[in-house]
Amino acid sequence: MSTRRAEPHFFDHGAQYFTARTKPFQQFIQPFIEDGVIKAWPARYARFDDDKIVERKDWGNDEPRYVGMPGMNSFAKALSKQLNIKFNTKITSLEKYNKWRLKDAEGGIHEGFDWVVSTAPSPQTSALFPDFFQYSKDIQGIEMRACFSLMLGFDHGLNLNFDAAHIYNNDISWLAVNSNKPGRSNIFSLIAHSSEEFAERNLERDLLEIQEHLCGETGRIISCDVSIATFKTVHRWRYANNVERKIFPVFLDIDLHLAACGDWCLGGRVENAFVSAYNLYKKMKSSLDIT
Ligand SMILES: Cc1cc2nc3c(=O)[nH]c(=O)nc-3n(C[C@H](O)[C@H](O)[C@H](O)COP(=O)(O)OP(=O)(O)OC[C@H]3O[C@@H](n4cnc5c(N)ncnc54)[C@H](O)[C@@H]3O)c2cc1C
Repeated sequence: MSTRRAEPHFFDHGAQYFTARTKPFQQFIQPFIEDGVIKAWPARYARFDDDKIVERKDWGNDEPRYVGMPGMNSFAKALSKQLNIKFNTKITSLEKYNKWRLKDAEGGIHEGFDWVVSTAPSPQTSALFPDFFQYSKDIQGIEMRACFSLMLGFDHGLNLNFDAAHIYNNDISWLAVNSNKPGRSNIFSLIAHSSEEFAERNLERDLLEIQEHLCGETGRIISCDVSIATFKTVHRWRYANNVERKIFPVFLDIDLHLAACGDWCLGGRVENAFVSAYNLYKKMKSSLDIT
């Protein structure tokens, strides 16, 4: 749930919106809705087959699609207020003495932990956890796919008849007018996500070439030359989504005091990241008799 600042433009270049279909998640987000940290996005939605619109919907009359206010990262920021977080610290290995000791990429040591819970994507959790972790093999088998996110900022608005769109049969899979989400600055900004297939085929290709290709396809879909954008950049997400939408058991190793959770345990998406953590919390609570 990231927001990229490139003033005067702002882009939610990761998750675009989220749903709340489960009772625990609905209850969890309710106070944040009341505080204005989260708001439903009543977008004019379209579904494209390549460059043709084949369906339209008004999300104002449909299941709510929520966004953070004024950026997607606002929700995570609100959640992290009381937490002790170390940013920009890549953990590279774990070591067990009677407690857990973590080493980071700069050689720093973080120690004295009773438990380690990883919420990193499955390939990163797998790289970090020892082979004797009870669920090592399961996690190794959970593959994830990449996605490129194209961010375009303009000094004047484009006249589009949708705010959000899924695109089928194209190297672009998603288009959104970021600046039309609630609470955003009204300086026109557009987001395009590549399809997972395109991202996997072109994962290591030069980012400028990717940008040009995605700009060309975006322009063709919306019948407008987007090379006039005053700000253009591309971000590569290596682990954006699960290959398979499967439901895995809770990855809790009571003996080792190691656990893992994340959207990838339930097939991707923000709500599943929450549900996966919630399931782990419930299992830890019942197994360890904690309050
Ligand atoms: C392009 C894109 C579009 C998406 N669109 C949607 C959408 O529209 N709707 C929706 O519901 N979901 C969407 N998602 C999925 C959504 O973003 C995720 O479900 C959600 O962000 C998961 O949150 P998380 O905290 O579990 O994991 P993440 O957001 O993946 O966070 C994991 C964190 O672990 C860190 N990390 C990894 N390895 C290490 C290490 N060794 N040491 C320290 N830190 C480490 C990473 O840097 C990262 O910050 C999208 C994702 C992407 C990438």
